[in-house]
Amino acid sequence: MSDEQGYDALGARLKEFEGRPAAVAGTGKDPVNAPMIRHWCEAMGDTNPAYTGPEAIAPPAMLQAWTMAGLSGHQDRTGAYDELLGLLDASGCTAVVATDCEQEYLRPLRPGDEVAFDTVIEEVSGRKTTKLGTGYFVTTRTDVRVGGEPAGTHRFRILKYAPAPRPPAAPQRSAEPGKPGALRPRPVVNRDNAGFWEGVAAHRLLIQRCTGCGTLRHPWLPGCNACGGLDWDTVEASGEGTVHSYVVMHHPHFPAFTESGTGPDGSDGGAGADGPYAVGLIELAEGVRMVSNVVGVPYDKVRVGLPVRLVFRRYDAELTLPVFRAVDR
Ligand code: ZN
Repeated sequence: MSDEQGYDALGARLKEFEGRPAAVAGTGKDPVNAPMIRHWCEAMGDTNPAYTGPEAIAPPAMLQAWTMAGLSGHQDRTGAYDELLGLLDASGCTAVVATDCEQEYLRPLRPGDEVAFDTVIEEVSGRKTTKLGTGYFVTTRTDVRVGGEPAGTHRFRILKYAPAPRPPAAPQRSAEPGKPGALRPRPVVNRDNAGFWEGVAAHRLLIQRCTGCGTLRHPWLPGCNACGGLDWDTVEASGEGTVHSYVVMHHPHFPAFTESGTGPDGSDGGAGADGPYAVGLIELAEGVRMVSNVVGVPYDKVRVGLPVRLVFRRYDAELTLPVFRAVDR
């Protein structure tokens, strides 16, 4: 049997999963509740007044949160989904990536609502080849109810695939693939963010500003998240900021990320050639936040509230990035 026929036979078996329930009469681990709503809103920076106070509703986008199993899992799974994923694993489609999610909201959820749900394997695609590899898209649909009444629908799609062989490293990117000296991945520059990267090339950190309502935004987007306006100009960041949050990357040590680059003063600032390094969510003085490396301080001295200042660091002949150096104030 050729590979092609093997895949076709697999495809037919996979199709038989369409319509099979993945979870039946599931129940939310917790009723809709104010603390989870508050945590969500704080994490999202969503200050919509509809989500607080005695008449609060839950943010609609939390729909899936009320059905999630957590570490302890759900008792109401049928096993069909695991069986499907197991078949795909056995066929070599061992990798998975979530591709998209669609939600439909039918009624608001309020604190105290007890959520029930059913999940069905809605669709298994034919064999598809993507840049990641060849595999199958699997869509599950979860119908959420409260007191027997439909409250919303959550569709979740994954791609289970056999990873494509890695393309050989381009020689100009790394003389010795896998060794320090590998170049960093290039940023994705598109028509929405090109102005940002033009600014970086000129050593200017530009923040988008809505000309309708004056709201600043970062990262760059086509529209204003405050008023929906499409017109914008830019303001140049002063470069002053503080660490709003951070993580320390310990491993794995991707070669491209273990070279620290050269700061304006020639120092590597904190990240040793193979050592952990800190990635911060930097709150700029202008109020927007951006993710970048925190340099000029040992990674274990980075802390929330640490004052930092923008520097442009040259990583290679074509790549300069804005990073943030710890400063004493
Ligand atoms: Zn606006």
